[in-house]
Amino acid sequence: MPSIRIVGGGLAGCEAAWQAASRGVPVTLYEMRPARPTEVHQTDRLAELVCSNSLRGDKLDNAVGLLKEEMRRLDSLVMRAATATRVPAGAALAVDRHAFAHEVTQAVTGHPLIAVVREELTGIPPSLGTADPVIIATGPLTSPALAASIAAFVGQDYLYFYDAISPIVLAGTIDASRVYRASRWGRSLGPQGEPAGPACGIDDGEGDYLNCPMDAGEYAAFYDALTHAEKATVHDLDRERFFEGCLPIEVLAHRGVDTLRFGPMKPVGLPDPRTGRPPYAVVQLRQDNLAADHYSLVGFQTQLKWGEQARVLRMIPGLERAEFVRFGMVHRNTYINGPTVLRETWQARQRDDLLFAGQISGVEGYVESAASGLLAGINAAALARGDAPRPAPRCTAIGALAYYVSHASAGNYQPSNITFGIIEPLPSPPRKAAARRTATAERALAALADWMR
Ligand SMILES: Cc1cc2nc3c(=O)[nH]c(=O)nc-3n(C[C@H](O)[C@H](O)[C@H](O)COP(=O)(O)OP(=O)(O)OC[C@H]3O[C@@H](n4cnc5c(N)ncnc54)[C@H](O)[C@@H]3O)c2cc1C
Repeated sequence: MPSIRIVGGGLAGCEAAWQAASRGVPVTLYEMRPARPTEVHQTDRLAELVCSNSLRGDKLDNAVGLLKEEMRRLDSLVMRAATATRVPAGAALAVDRHAFAHEVTQAVTGHPLIAVVREELTGIPPSLGTADPVIIATGPLTSPALAASIAAFVGQDYLYFYDAISPIVLAGTIDASRVYRASRWGRSLGPQGEPAGPACGIDDGEGDYLNCPMDAGEYAAFYDALTHAEKATVHDLDRERFFEGCLPIEVLAHRGVDTLRFGPMKPVGLPDPRTGRPPYAVVQLRQDNLAADHYSLVGFQTQLKWGEQARVLRMIPGLERAEFVRFGMVHRNTYINGPTVLRETWQARQRDDLLFAGQISGVEGYVESAASGLLAGINAAALARGDAPRPAPRCTAIGALAYYVSHASAGNYQPSNITFGIIEPLPSPPRKAAARRTATAERALAALADWMR
């Protein structure tokens, strides 16, 4: 009798187990807690929410609301448990975290076709053929031994261990009179935002970056504030063991007064048109969304407390009145390079019987993790029954997420939440944003109904 092995009893693993078992396929679900805890989980329950108790917006006019509705229609266990344990939170879906995890744990352990084994798997389970697929759903805090096995499978360069997030500011709050546009050495970015080779041509004088120039005095004051600012207390996650490539700016600053000037604040190749010379130091801002109303600070990942970030970063010329859309962060997050490793069905490109789901597959967020588990579970069940796995339509939120993970630019891959921006565009979209979102949601739900049939 074919069966499915699922590693990780979090949001993705439980949803996958539920979907597969609901299709009559036996599942063995391996969960290492409580024998081996993670740095963040606090209980032995399955599907424990590690931080916020919010599953975010619940209306069809936002993308995560649409994703949730699609999941409900696909009989999602996570959505069912969330509805049963909902607490008041306005337009968002928030839950009583203990009741939620209890609900999922009861449903999974009580299912006659699911066996839960409390054990850490230290390697990717070997292949027993496509009728006995494996789903890896061990999340952002995958145990080190299994992470090493995954790195060996996907290639060392395609498994990441940290998310380093730079702050984002609202474009309209940048003082345009203090900043100048230029790309280093006059090079533009490629069409996907990748660093361009010479083929992308000489800067047309506009440049792709906004540059905030500092003189020696401004740099000294900024350096002093940065090195004395208060750091956030993070979870006890390998606090000091960051990758060299994504060191927080305050960690770099503590290495020496000029380290930032030779790193993210390097001015060479960026002459200020007002002086014709490169400034003493520079902070670069890069457009962060298509609407061009968000700009991120390049290479400025930081763990300063949010209030401190605002205070210190507003010392940067041009950002004196900046409003922050998102503050910087660094946290442990184990995930694969989805576009290199995965197909749209959540199967590994190199191994038909191996699927990835949840945060480790390169999605971001509770709901997205559960959604990827849902499709991985459906597709693993198809394999077990000898059917071909099927991707969901790209015009649905759940299908768009799979398409993004398997087709985004691999060069600088970043896990993503679901957004309307990654859903297939409408052929003739209404002009007004609200009407566009409604039309996108209606089309998605109709396409999902067809797909389910
Ligand atoms: C600190 C932190 C805070 C976060 N906060 C939020 C938030 O507020 N909102 C949000 O939407 N998202 C948040 N996320 C991101 C993400 O959505 C959640 O981590 C989510 O739980 C991911 O679901 P998952 O099923 O992929 O992983 P998890 O829910 O973490 O489940 C993975 C399971 O696998 C188990 N496991 C790991 N290794 C092994 C092994 N070798 N053998 C057997 N079992 C194993 C773990 O014990 C765990 O139970 C946060 C992530 C982190 C790290």
